[in-house]
Amino acid sequence: MKILTVVGARPQFIKAAAVSRVMKDHQDIHEVILHTGQHYDANMSEVFFREMEIPEPAYNLGIQASLQGEMTGRMIEGIEKIIISEKPDALLVYGDTNSTLAGALASNKLFVKIIHVEAGLRSYNMKMSEEINRILTDRISDLLCCPTANAVRNLESEGFADFNCTYLNTGDVMLDAALFYSQIAETKSTIVRDLNLDDFVLLTFHRAENTNDPRRLSDIVKALNAIHPTKRVVLPLHPRTKKTVEALGLKLNMDVIPPVGYFDMIELLKNCKLVVTDSGGLQKEAYFFQKPCVTLRDETEWTELVELGCNKLVGADPVLIQSSIFEMLKQKFNFDNELFGGGKASQNIISAIETYL
Ligand code: UDP
Repeated sequence: MKILTVVGARPQFIKAAAVSRVMKDHQDIHEVILHTGQHYDANMSEVFFREMEIPEPAYNLGIQASLQGEMTGRMIEGIEKIIISEKPDALLVYGDTNSTLAGALASNKLFVKIIHVEAGLRSYNMKMSEEINRILTDRISDLLCCPTANAVRNLESEGFADFNCTYLNTGDVMLDAALFYSQIAETKSTIVRDLNLDDFVLLTFHRAENTNDPRRLSDIVKALNAIHPTKRVVLPLHPRTKKTVEALGLKLNMDVIPPVGYFDMIELLKNCKLVVTDSGGLQKEAYFFQKPCVTLRDETEWTELVELGCNKLVGADPVLIQSSIFEMLKQKFNFDNELFGGGKASQNIISAIETYL
């Protein structure tokens, strides 16, 4: 069986690393990787392929565009051509980016089966481009691999039981990645020593709802600037955030570093005291590495973590951000619930592909 995997953005490289690694051991599956080019900086793309030994993409469309429609349209066009020439049995997409939707649409129009990994997640915020991408991709997918029981319930409440598709809880491939690369990261990453990190808060933010709204952006910056003198804040700065912070002339009074590779990120996660983020992936990784998380959003796809209490939604309210950080630093949380499948998601996905496609 030939599978065309479409990736384009940082979190997809990490997810693909976990799945491709297991796929390589399956003689009956031949994977061809297509990179749309959505993320192109070396520290947003190439570093992940190199460090995590993801097979070299057979195709790179090199598509970068600032307009969403242009980007998605050009991706559909490029992916369509490759589907026609490669004739895959199925196309595999991850998550919720424009690359995900473009891959799914191109595939659907050519009647090629679609596998969606990280299906069923919902924020129920229809203003989020990611929410639209995931809903549309789910609806036209043939095999929907859900990371959690909640994701399965979301699909059921939308009537997926009556649709012509298969959905199942496979577990979360990001846990597979975290578990597999954790030991390697320990031997390869020197970031904690290099930056002399001890007692610190790890911050990442890049969601359009925060970076494209000057009010929210400056409130977040204000809150974290105020934390830094008492508790060191380390921020690997996403290129989109960098652009808008500079355009608004905001000063980041914290330890700002360029985006880091996955091994460095794992070591930052292991050694920090708390995570502050608007990233979907980081919220879970905080849990994997047993760190509380303050989430700079008004809602989350990972509601189970909020219910457990170890993740708190604070939006962009500067007072709430600051008080929550100090409050959560004092509390103890239980990280023992096995919510994400125990590290066998990639194997489960491959078994599902072999069984249902
Ligand atoms: N990540 C990384 N380096 C960074 C920031 C994030 O390796 O400087 C990893 C992070 O550990 C997680 C993934 O990128 O595995 C999350 O990606 P991102 O926050 O860009 O996207 P989201 O998860 O919100 O879709």
